[in-house]
Amino acid sequence: MGFLSGKRALIFGVASNRSIAWGIAQALHRQGCELAFTYQNERLRERVEKLAGQLDSDIIIPCNVEDDNEIEAVFEHLDDYWDSFDILIHSIAYAPKELMEGDYLDNLSRDGFNTAHDVSSYSLAAIAKAGRHMMQKREDAAILTLSYLGAERTFPGYNVMGLAKASLEANVRYLAQNLGPEGIRVNAISAGPIKTLAASGINEFGKIFDQVESTAPLRRNVTIDDVGNTGAFLSSPLARAITGEVVYVDSGFHIVGLMNTTP
Ligand code: NAD
Repeated sequence: MGFLSGKRALIFGVASNRSIAWGIAQALHRQGCELAFTYQNERLRERVEKLAGQLDSDIIIPCNVEDDNEIEAVFEHLDDYWDSFDILIHSIAYAPKELMEGDYLDNLSRDGFNTAHDVSSYSLAAIAKAGRHMMQKREDAAILTLSYLGAERTFPGYNVMGLAKASLEANVRYLAQNLGPEGIRVNAISAGPIKTLAASGINEFGKIFDQVESTAPLRRNVTIDDVGNTGAFLSSPLARAITGEVVYVDSGFHIVGLMNTTP
């Protein structure tokens, strides 16, 4: 029996078997959690359906988080299967490609800024707002989102996404304060770089990936299993006194100032 047996999780953000959300889904499943999934659009439906089936789930619901009606419909649809649930995973981010390369200011636009913040930060609060009534009924519910160190430091090509992640991390703190009295915890994992579809949109990703491997205290990059296991812990009663936190799963990269080069 796993430490999540009897729990139910709704997962936003599986696009492939490389997705961080997929690593989290597998870890939750290993610990006995029941799962439901959303998918962004028709193009992803079949793939998400197959992946969900591998983890004994047949609940898959469309949701483009840019559309309020689709967000509302997720919870109406979910109500056909579950009257309540314990865990909400938000593993979603997007910024238009041209804003994720080259000169930050040259490529910045009002529309691009708004889209990045809408999809990558506002959506966390939007789904928490729409799903709140189904989590209030459970003891120790948990919301988890995914951030990156680009929220606090500059990285080449991360550009507007860094601002959106800073907003997301503030969102975590305000949501934690707002939902804490209802027994709902809210946390983020700041993950190290992982080769996923979203990461392929970051122009200088290879450089960042190599830098972590050579300078992080653990001298390795992280995997979706590393993030998944921490996600399962944070979503579980084992973490019942942790809320409003950003937990780093990055081989310790964020603590490094200047690397020690003496043997
Ligand atoms: P991914 O491409 O597998 O997942 C991104 C997900 O966002 C996809 O499932 C996509 O369908 C979804 N999405 C984008 N726009 C959407 C919309 N309008 N409506 C609904 N869904 C939408 O990539 P990933 O790396 O697993 O990304 C998941 C999260 O992890 C993101 O928040 C990302 O910023 C974060 N993250 C990634 C890394 C990394 O290096 N890969 C590091 C730290 C944090």
